[in-house]
Amino acid sequence: MQINIDADRIVADLEKLATFSDTESPVITRVVYSESDNKARAWLKEQCEASGLTVRKDPLGNLFACWQGTDTAAGAVGTGSHIDAIPHSGRFDGTVGVLGALESIRALQRSGFKPRRSIELLAFISEEPTRFGIGCLGSRMLCGSLTPEKAAALKDREDQPLTNFTGTLAEVKLPANYYSSFVELHIEQGPILEKENIPLGIVTSIAAPAALRILIEGEGGHAGAVLMPARRDAFLGAAEIALAVEAAAKATGVIDSVGTCGLVEVFPGLANSIPSKVKLELDIRDSDLARRDSMLQAIWKACDEIRARRKLKITSSTINADAPCTCGSEVVAALESSCQKEGIVYKKMVSRAYHDSLFMSRIAPTAMLFIPCKNGFSHRPEEYAAPQDLANGALVLARTLATLSTGLYSGS
Ligand SMILES: [Zn+2]
Repeated sequence: MQINIDADRIVADLEKLATFSDTESPVITRVVYSESDNKARAWLKEQCEASGLTVRKDPLGNLFACWQGTDTAAGAVGTGSHIDAIPHSGRFDGTVGVLGALESIRALQRSGFKPRRSIELLAFISEEPTRFGIGCLGSRMLCGSLTPEKAAALKDREDQPLTNFTGTLAEVKLPANYYSSFVELHIEQGPILEKENIPLGIVTSIAAPAALRILIEGEGGHAGAVLMPARRDAFLGAAEIALAVEAAAKATGVIDSVGTCGLVEVFPGLANSIPSKVKLELDIRDSDLARRDSMLQAIWKACDEIRARRKLKITSSTINADAPCTCGSEVVAALESSCQKEGIVYKKMVSRAYHDSLFMSRIAPTAMLFIPCKNGFSHRPEEYAAPQDLANGALVLARTLATLSTGLYSGS
């Protein structure tokens, strides 16, 4: 079967989608449920319907566009990504996995392919945490890892709850075996593919962050009057914890282990006052859950030691700790054989950023396909993916969807 991707169409669709923005293209701002986001979704729905797909929306706003297969009882093959965008970002993050996948479906239609399992394009709602402070809201609810009760308690910055929908949040969770597999096309958001001049990346695991908050309490006082031996400086304890985070990440000896102490708040925050209190927020990531937990253990151990030696009070809480995922081997195999059939070189890799696929992997075998992006830039207006890379991604995605849809597809 010959599959012909219309790269110009993907580029034009991305350009059109970029016009739905609160900022002027190429600067994109499309926060979930904003007018721009709602208009973009309405436009996307039209595009899917114009391609003969049956479109439905769930109460949260996740959009499903289905190409009905001959076996309606079998679980569908899912593909898709998100179209919301953080303020002042670019036009390729997420959108490539929606509009690229739409072109994959159109290309399969043009080729005469008939799906056995339905092929369904999914545009997730609220992948970015901009509005509600939690990433992958749509996919978390689809897979049931965020309960309707917890979702109902979410508030945005204006203290508004999730209200922009019809129906109940309890209806969002997908029935068991709804998808037989899921595959997401996405820009790499890192520099590896471009640097190594490799056109495609097949993701074999997705790292997930554990976010922690640590509060360190000591004793404040006059920066001149309190002598050094008597001090219980909260900031010095915090500084040692930050170094312990770096040491824990480096100690695994694996490049996928990363630890960041990106938020530090010092009280009272005056040069002539000994810090009495410090708040730290940490982000610890790894593609392997056991290894990530070993980093956490090392950090807790360091906290205990610092607490005792510096006579500080140290309390910690977990803000969020999603488990990393290993991608579905059958989806990875389908992606590999599709690359081979199309003669496109690929590299197996870890996704260090997390995506909706992390949550989809909890309900169906899932993998991701990465295309290079210029300089690894993402979440900024300079984000760019070349037409040839978009075409390669859509082509391999199309062949993979066909393979997963038939289960028997030989590709000849
Ligand atoms: Zn994304």
